[in-house]
Amino acid sequence: MKCQDCGSTDFVKNGKNQKTQRQKYKCKNCGSDKYPIDDKTLISKPSLSEVSPMTEEQLRAKYDLSFIVQTALSQLEKGQFLNKEMLLKRCKLSASAAGVSATIHAEQFKPYRGKAKGGDIIFGHPDRIRTLIEETVLFEI
Ligand SMILES: [Zn+2]
Repeated sequence: MKCQDCGSTDFVKNGKNQKTQRQKYKCKNCGSDKYPIDDKTLISKPSLSEVSPMTEEQLRAKYDLSFIVQTALSQLEKGQFLNKEMLLKRCKLSASAAGVSATIHAEQFKPYRGKAKGGDIIFGHPDRIRTLIEETVLFEI
């Protein structure tokens, strides 16, 4: 039994209903003598399994390509570089999956990106990428 007013489960007996001879209760916590919510009402709710809902971060980590790539790139320290294949592998993405190519070439990731001679796309810390572009080791892409 649960109090309708405060949700407490502590009750004291409070006489009997004269008509029905049903035991009446008073909430020990707030004193409410409204008829308490029956356990049966509570039990009749469907019981849900232990599966807990996904957080937005978990959802994004699974489906939001920009979020996935941003996370991988922002974890790169100065002096650490990935080529395109390594970045995709790190992000657990397939190059042929929809939207992947557009995402890694997106304007927002330009500071992390440079093109090497031969066409390899290199990703790294924006400070190092800028320097390497200034030194013409890499080119803007
Ligand atoms: Zn109460």
